[in-house]
This record gives sequence, structure tokens and C-alpha cells, in this order.
Amino acid sequence: MAGARAYLDWNATAPLPPPVQAALVEAMCVIGNPSSIHAEGRAARALIERARADVAALVGASSADVVFTSGATEATNAILTHGLTPSAPFRVLASATEHSAVMKSLPADVVILPVLPTGLLDLDALEAALAADARPTLVAVQLANNETGIIQPIAEIAAKVHAKGGRLVVDAVQAPGKLPVDIKALGADVLILSAHKFGGPKGVGAMVFKDGATRLASAYVTGGGQELGQRGGTENLLGIVGMGAAAQHCLAQPDAPASMKTLRDGFETSLLRFAPHAHIVGEGVMRLPNTALFAVPGLTAQGAMVAFDLDGVAVSSGSACSSGKVKASHVLAAMAVPDFVIEGAIRMSIGPTTTQAELDACLASLARQLERKAGRAHAA
Ligand code: PLP
Repeated sequence: MAGARAYLDWNATAPLPPPVQAALVEAMCVIGNPSSIHAEGRAARALIERARADVAALVGASSADVVFTSGATEATNAILTHGLTPSAPFRVLASATEHSAVMKSLPADVVILPVLPTGLLDLDALEAALAADARPTLVAVQLANNETGIIQPIAEIAAKVHAKGGRLVVDAVQAPGKLPVDIKALGADVLILSAHKFGGPKGVGAMVFKDGATRLASAYVTGGGQELGQRGGTENLLGIVGMGAAAQHCLAQPDAPASMKTLRDGFETSLLRFAPHAHIVGEGVMRLPNTALFAVPGLTAQGAMVAFDLDGVAVSSGSACSSGKVKASHVLAAMAVPDFVIEGAIRMSIGPTTTQAELDACLASLARQLERKAGRAHAA
């Protein structure tokens, strides 16, 4: 590892794999506007439609139901403020552990659904909230949490929501490449994706509808009628091509989740060996195979983040994902974890090219931090 950095923050963003880089370089030479009817325009359109088919294949959808956006935040904002067809006033229920892209899009009268200490949605609370009000309801529940990796039982949630005539919006941003995702098996009405979480470029994403009858109740960017008339504006050709190539690359690596799980589980075992009081969040429930969120009593996330970075290890704290600030995680607060976990949670998230040497560098840095702390306590 001498000199090299260990990038262990794949839930924040994933590097571009070589096939995605190659697809981007090729697309840079395409000059047409995808809406133009001449050969140059048709060449650009063909790339977009190819990418649409690849993204649809990633989640078991039809390419006619994929709308490209500038990312998951934009898609989430659009869905939660415009609602889905048929157009009607609607109310929103959202789980307490949603990403801020969802949390900040919610109407004032939203009902926040609690999670259990395991991090899983409280299904009794969901049923009670669904029964409490007869208005059309949009329910937002993420497939997998970006901080903890905890996976929600979306098919079960969808059955409950649909039994009451509601619609289910699923933020699936953290799942591709880590979990199989199938919109029909999940029962989602709409899935939200972000390319940069699974090997595509930053600043492009998609909303994927379950069928042709499900759309946004109204266009949210009006203009030239692009993207099924839902999001006007000349398409982000490079971003979309990169997203399609990343989708293809994920599908070509079916064994990656199992390899990541072996590395992650080994990391957690080693961690507990030299820090037996460490708390691993989400242990015992279904979790993404690439994510370890842990805290060691006495270490604060803020101090640890700096020490890891100086040691050449890029990890993240509970919710540093906005603006680089370390602030208390609403996800961990909703799970009512002990205070030392709120203050000290470190997220280590890996990808298909992560090596054991990178994980060893992370563990060695942590061991040094604990030794320094023990030395200071001894001197005091
Ligand atoms: N949802 C989840 C679960 C995420 O992890 C993120 C990014 O951190 C987002 C939504 C927002 O995605 P984007 O960066 O595409 O706006």
C-alpha cells in the first residue's frame, strides 16, 4: 500500500470503471443533438436509447419507462412535489431514515414513519398511518440505506401500501451492483437511481416507472418535450451514456456482491478482534454486502476522519454526505443507537475492485488511533 491511498467510500461515490471511461471518450466524439433528425442527431439519439435499454435492464423495467434526470435528488424532488398519475392531491408518508434528498422534498404535513431499533421500518406504524387517512398516498421508503446499508423489506411494504390504494416511491440509489434490483419483484411504483453510485458519472440519474400508465402527474421541467415529456431540455448525452455503460458493467459482474461481502465480513471480524467493544450498526439484519458502519467507544467521528485521511484512507462518517460537515445522523438518531455511536460512527464502504490491502490499511490506521488514545489515557 506504500504511497497509495485506500478509497473506502464507495457509498459516497464510486470510481468510473475502464469500460465506462471508454464509453464516455467515444461519446465525446458524437456531435449531434439527440433531437435532430439528421444522421449526427440520430447517432446521438441511438446512444441515448441504448443507455435507456441498459438502465431498464439493470432494474427489470421497460426502456419506455425510464426518464433520465440530473441525479437522484432531482428525481426525488420531482416525484414528491408533483406526485404520480392520475393527478390528484396526495399526502406523503416517509420513513425516518430516508436520505436528505427525500427528507428535504417532503410537504409540511408529511407523516414520518418510525423505524425499529434494527433500522427496519415499523410496519405497524405504516399500517396505522395508511388506515388513518383516505386521501391518495405516496409512501417513500428507500431500498437500502446509504449510511448503514440496512435493506428494507420493500415487497412486503409495497403489498401493504397497495392494499390501501397507495403508491410506493423507492429510492434504490445504493442498490445497483450490490443487490439484484427488479422493479416488479419489489412492487415499487417508481424507482430512483443515481449513476455515480454504481460506476457512472456524477450528475445523472433516472426515475424508472413500473409501467406506461405511471408517470409524474405533470412535467417538472417544461421545454422541448424530451424524456417522455416529463423533463424538458437537451439530454446530458455524456452522463446518460456513462450511466448506461455502468449499468451494463454491473450486470456483467454478478459475483461482485459475494466477493464484497467476504471482504466486508472479514473486516468486521478483524475489527472486533482488536476493538471488542466496537458497535457494528445493522449487524443481524439484511445489509448491503459492501457497507460497514461502526463506532468504537472513545473515538469521535470528527477526529477519526482526520486521522484516517492523514493515513491515506478515505472513509466517511455517518452523514458527511452533504457539504463535508460532520453532523449528527438523523438515521442513527431514528434507530436510537447509543450516544457513542451517534458521535463516533465511521462508514467504510467498498466496491468490486477493493483489495484486502486497502482494508488492512484502514484497520492499521484504526489500531494506531486506538493506541494513541490509550497512550493519552495512560499519561493523564
Ligand atoms: N439517495 C441516496 C440513498 C443516496 O445515497 C444519495 C446520494 O448520496 C442520493 C439519494 C442523492 O443522489 P444524487 O447524488 O444523485 O443526487
